[in-house]
Amino acid sequence: MPTETRASLPIIDHRPAAYDGPSKSEVLAVRQQYLTPGLITYYRDPLLLVEGHMQYLWDETGKRYLDAFAGIVTVSVGHCHPAIVKKVQEQVGKLQHVTTIYLHPTIGEFGKKLAEHFPKGSGLTQTYFTNSGSEANEIAILSAREFTGNQEVISLRNCYHGGTQATMALTAHSTWKFKTNPTINVKNALAPYCYRCPYGLEYPSCGLKCAKDVENVIKYETSGQVAAFIAESIQGVGGAVTPPPGYFEIVYDIVRKAGGLCIADEVQSGFGRTGDRFWGFENYGVTPDMVTMAKGIGNGAPLGACTTRPEIAAMMKNRIHFNTYGGNPISMTQGLATLEVIHNENIQQNAKTIGDHLKHRLLELQERHPLIGDVRGMGLMIGVELVRDRKSKEPANTEAADVMEKAKERGLIIGKGGLFGNTLRIKPPMCLNKDDADFLVDTLDEVLLELK
Ligand code: PLP
Repeated sequence: MPTETRASLPIIDHRPAAYDGPSKSEVLAVRQQYLTPGLITYYRDPLLLVEGHMQYLWDETGKRYLDAFAGIVTVSVGHCHPAIVKKVQEQVGKLQHVTTIYLHPTIGEFGKKLAEHFPKGSGLTQTYFTNSGSEANEIAILSAREFTGNQEVISLRNCYHGGTQATMALTAHSTWKFKTNPTINVKNALAPYCYRCPYGLEYPSCGLKCAKDVENVIKYETSGQVAAFIAESIQGVGGAVTPPPGYFEIVYDIVRKAGGLCIADEVQSGFGRTGDRFWGFENYGVTPDMVTMAKGIGNGAPLGACTTRPEIAAMMKNRIHFNTYGGNPISMTQGLATLEVIHNENIQQNAKTIGDHLKHRLLELQERHPLIGDVRGMGLMIGVELVRDRKSKEPANTEAADVMEKAKERGLIIGKGGLFGNTLRIKPPMCLNKDDADFLVDTLDEVLLELK
């Protein structure tokens, strides 16, 4: 048990139903016997979660947690949000599945709504629906290669773009690599990771040297003509690595000169999470040729999408390419309902207001806790990188694991990631309120004190 707990979860009026399902050890035993080994679970003693309501989760004992990781950055507006549940229940009772070989109103309706969310004049109007972010990135890369006639793709070190073969090839993190991939021709440019600048420089006097590395990669490692550049607007799994202002403008220019298309992977950074803007890329004043999305798009539904301009989408015209569950009416309904909640409940504004408050308080915490090397991110997409020594920046990865464990004991769930596994990832459902944010910071404060 924690030695000292002052921070307490905000009082709410939701009471979880009594749980009468199998015990944790039974669930674990079945999982070990019947599921693929190697599936990761967070925590030394994995959590069994049995109910969710908005930003909170409950385990089988009735203990409540603040979910500051939003499932896995999926539950954008709250677990079992009542407005979404209602719409999905209606749809489930009416029609569960037809595919795109038939017409169903929800598919076009959601496609139209998404198109309305892209900047005017961007031409981003044509959407291909998938079940996941990986598939959305697959279709983006396929489209870029077909459209440009070029083969090579550039992604950034420290990126994560998915778990299918081609997206594993894009992903540049040894943690996620198998010895047997990649399957497509990918080159990696340096990540715009200011805290660990690969050149040892500082922004802005660095002159954005890392952006110009893309030019070198094209010059020395490709034929000179590339199909695409793909990047997350803020690196998610990589630990909320936030490119400096101006970065994407330079890179997009370089890539387009080499004949390539620019793909923004908004799987984590889209749908208002960065606060100021609906899409992460909008914070950088650029317009991608393709945008891929998943996770928060449907508040946890198995749903992804790739949106592009008509002339690029047209490459599909004479091909047969098909996704059985892409455009499934239940997922479409969940996506539509999520967008409605984002607007009706001012979710994006909340991500900005509460995100700013959270970041401000985390920066204060950094002044008191030497273990905190860096606090970064935008809106409700925040990374807290832990280091053993601020000068050498030695990654504090076991300490980060300890923080997670101790936070869990106190009722707080956070994520962890980054190349060294030393960055705490704070990406809660965007309905988080100020009391939740204060509980989160006060809990981290107590945990870090205990670790001293
Ligand atoms: N792109 C980004 C930025 C992601 O974070 C992820 C998943 O974490 C993916 C793509 C892959 O999405 P999925 O797991 O839905 O295939």
